[in-house]
Amino acid sequence: MDKIKIEDLEVFAYHGVYPEENENGQNFYINATLYLQTREAGKSDNLTLSVHYGEVCHFMNDFMKQHTFQLIETVAERMAEAVLLQFPLIEVLQLEIRKPSAPIGLPFASVSVEIERAWHTAYIAIGSNMGDKQQYIEQAIEKIKKHPLLNVISVSKLLVTKPYGGVEQEDFLNGAMEIRTLLLPEELLDFLHEIEQQAGRERLIHWGPRTLDLDIIFYDNLVYDSETLTIPHADMHNREFVLIPMNDIAPYKRHAVLGKTVHQMLNELQELSRN
Ligand code: ATP
Ligand code: CA
Ligand code: CA
Repeated sequence: MDKIKIEDLEVFAYHGVYPEENENGQNFYINATLYLQTREAGKSDNLTLSVHYGEVCHFMNDFMKQHTFQLIETVAERMAEAVLLQFPLIEVLQLEIRKPSAPIGLPFASVSVEIERAWHTAYIAIGSNMGDKQQYIEQAIEKIKKHPLLNVISVSKLLVTKPYGGVEQEDFLNGAMEIRTLLLPEELLDFLHEIEQQAGRERLIHWGPRTLDLDIIFYDNLVYDSETLTIPHADMHNREFVLIPMNDIAPYKRHAVLGKTVHQMLNELQELSRN
């Protein structure tokens, strides 16, 4: 991806663990690499299609001066988030905060923290089969839209489906959505669980009736397994009620393990059920 680099922006600020650092202040130096597509701006000579690096510098300068944190880790973390939210064309941000005058009582050149933070694209499957299903789903979408670190890019049509997994229960209403988020996978899962809980979700029987179920289907092209989370969702390719709404919003999205597009997986599954 294209990048814009800012080197050694000098900012006098008051971050530090020691009280004298918070009182007297010192110089910090910022290196930032902004990853974005500059092609269209480059072809048209139009600044609105790129990111104004002067504005980014002023924004970081103001941010550093308006807050006082103990750790440069926190300076980096909070400032990366603020910059990514303020300048949405930046897809990935590498940020280094250097503190050459840190009072450690030994001669040294410098210390710094460098992090990389990015917008991620995730797909979420959404289902309900109790009570006012449509309302549970719409409320969940509204809550997701309100989260400051999350943008909803598209929502599929909702469809009525027969229950899966052999438990006798009401029909489901199912859908899927594409989001752009600064949350990491486990953080996203925690947030989805919170919304499920607010909808009164109880886990009584596996695959049993539920007011609201929110599953992470894909997260970028990540392949991830932990005790609490499997990405891509382990069973999505066997489920029409996931693949039909996914096909609505992302037919060409490719499964990072199976190597097949959503459209292909849906066709193959429907082919199987015909035989
Ligand atoms: P299924 O996961 O087969 O669709 P379910 O959605 O009914 O079944 P839940 O009771 O909602 O199952 O979730 C059980 C656990 O699955 C969650 O607590 C979560 O930790 C784990 N899990 C693993 N991978 C995912 C994922 N990709 N999205 C959501 N939850 C996941
Ligand atoms: Ca599920
Ligand atoms: Ca679930």
